[in-house]
Amino acid sequence: MTTSAQHLPAATDKPAPARTIAPHGGTLVNRIVAQERREEARKEAASLRVIPLNARAASDALLIATGGFSPLEGFLGYESAKSVVESMSLRNGTLWPLPVLLQLGRDQTDGIRFGTRVALSVEGECVTTLEVTDRFAVPGRDWAAKIYGTSDEAHPGVAALLSSGEIALGGTLEWFSEPRLAGLPAEWQTPSEVRAEITRRGWRTVAGFQTRNPVHRAHEYVLRTAIEVTDGLLLHPLVGETKAEDLPAPLRLRCYRALLDNYLPQERVLFAVMPAWMRYAGPREAIFHALVRKNFGCTHFLVGRDHAGVGSYYGPYDAHHLLRSVAGRGLDIQPIFFDEVFYCTRCGSMASGRTCAHPKEDHLGLSGTEVRRRLREGLPLPVEFTRPEVAAILAEAFRQPAAVDQPAGNRQPVAPAQPPEEARA
Ligand SMILES: [Zn+2]
Repeated sequence: MTTSAQHLPAATDKPAPARTIAPHGGTLVNRIVAQERREEARKEAASLRVIPLNARAASDALLIATGGFSPLEGFLGYESAKSVVESMSLRNGTLWPLPVLLQLGRDQTDGIRFGTRVALSVEGECVTTLEVTDRFAVPGRDWAAKIYGTSDEAHPGVAALLSSGEIALGGTLEWFSEPRLAGLPAEWQTPSEVRAEITRRGWRTVAGFQTRNPVHRAHEYVLRTAIEVTDGLLLHPLVGETKAEDLPAPLRLRCYRALLDNYLPQERVLFAVMPAWMRYAGPREAIFHALVRKNFGCTHFLVGRDHAGVGSYYGPYDAHHLLRSVAGRGLDIQPIFFDEVFYCTRCGSMASGRTCAHPKEDHLGLSGTEVRRRLREGLPLPVEFTRPEVAAILAEAFRQPAAVDQPAGNRQPVAPAQPPEEARA
């Protein structure tokens, strides 16, 4: 064997490699069973009671196991969840805005005692064990009002909380399958993979961009502005469950690909997908999205108008205010706030409420509803609003209605009627 001295790095003139930002809570959680122990874990799981996960719980479990939700090591128990709901912090005081719950029907949890292990399956395949440390009735309406600011069931996040099962199991996970889910796009990378790529590229500052919408010029303006002031961009569209009106993820990904292939410098953009589902919790979810991107190695996070909002439940800048208010509570990742972005005919360029002096009549902005109407009627989208390559993909998809309808399995339980939406991130 070689001596230890031979493992020391050779002295070079190179600067020390960039260190990525510390994950939330200090350590990147890893609940993935090592390759050599997986067979054993699989055998053990085969002897356990199996509980099937729905799409939302499956994506939560994957993000817990891979460290996307660090410092969470499992689904929250009652006391932790209560602390999160009431004070946006875990019991040790760590900032955490949304409870991550494994909600199940009463019949699914009957007879499960503390300390027992159960296997959790996704589409018939066991992927992880759960060591049950808590079992409790979810105070649905009370928690909904505190998390979402409303207990109105027309709110898709409230509907998800109220319809997902009245009992929650808390406990840590041990994921013994490959760290991915069937149906996740090839662009999925775990937090440690994204962090490794950030290190490889030598980026010291990375801006994370969350989105659930097709990419328009307003988004592009935000992305370019971020690249002006950071080393690189993590383009990280959410591909978990969204409400039925949102366009399906594969279509949105094609739009991003078109923008990347034709307009943005590849060496400054890292394109990966985020498997989380949309809660539409507005301000609280903005904090959640920022913390999760910190776990993926981002130092900055882009926050647009009405981030993670739905309907008119939240004010357009409520998310900005709440993020500012938690800056001293260990947020660490730096938000970059954006006002509404549009094309201004008098400026002759993209601009925002912060950078343009002209009245609304000079601004070209289309609501999501108006964009869908134009596409459905085969009308063009103005080049000032959408790049032609992106517009062509959307137009083609709208000629085959099946391509723009979300598959039933990727749809949230209640699809409320939506008031017209302005462009959202
Ligand atoms: Zn202007």
